[in-house]
Amino acid sequence: MKNFMWIFAFLFLAAGTLFAEETSSKEVILLMGPPGSGKGTQAVRLSKEMHLPHISTGDLLREFLKNPPADQKEHAAQLKAMMDNGKLISNEEIISLLKERIAKPDAAKGYILDGYPRSTEQAEALDKLFSPNDTLVILLLDVPDSAIIERIEGRLTCFSCQKTFHKTLSPPTTPGVCDSCASELGQRSDDVREAIEKRLKVYHEQTEPVIAYYSKKTKVNTIDATQKPDVIFQELVRIAHKK
Ligand code: ADP
Repeated sequence: MKNFMWIFAFLFLAAGTLFAEETSSKEVILLMGPPGSGKGTQAVRLSKEMHLPHISTGDLLREFLKNPPADQKEHAAQLKAMMDNGKLISNEEIISLLKERIAKPDAAKGYILDGYPRSTEQAEALDKLFSPNDTLVILLLDVPDSAIIERIEGRLTCFSCQKTFHKTLSPPTTPGVCDSCASELGQRSDDVREAIEKRLKVYHEQTEPVIAYYSKKTKVNTIDATQKPDVIFQELVRIAHKK
């Protein structure tokens, strides 16, 4: 009799866990837009506001490049060369990087994606990770190409906390020093004109089709990202809260 009770208790708990997994829903926010449209800056603020982690595939790659395992140094050098050339990293590698990151406990309730998906294959792979109860909010930061070159060429990045500044448009309080964590600021190796132009070309050819892909399924919220950062942020928050 005792054995039966144990089996019954086990089945009850297992069913409860399965049911909980099926009904728990995630809130996923996609911040889309060309390089230099302010995705990273807005994602950091939105992450605090929405209590969701900010996941940037570019930051994940740069983090990997900082200290690659001994047997992956050559591969890391190849990745860096591709990024410096403004080319996209293979879908296979990015998707596995993303899956590993969103499996972490802090992403259990959802996450804000910045820089993913960048191709329709990546969007399809993301679709497969969704459950029917999940909500998806798409925010598209719209900036003309002409404004982007100036924004990125003058961008200064903190290699420690990833916060960005601009030499003239939003300079740090102390030149060369991050306002947030006091680390040294510098220029990303792909923030030079040649690489920016290539990244823009890749964006138009491979990432813009992703917007068309989502437009067929759901609402794509387009925000004029030439406005002041605070105005853009208020607009993003309003849309994200409304869902
Ligand atoms: P930005 O938005 O300014 O281009 P990111 O940090 O998002 O900067 O990306 C930097 C580089 O990292 C890209 O040019 C590309 O080489 C690589 N990368 C980042 N995310 C992806 C992705 N989802 N798919 C393929 N490559 C990526």
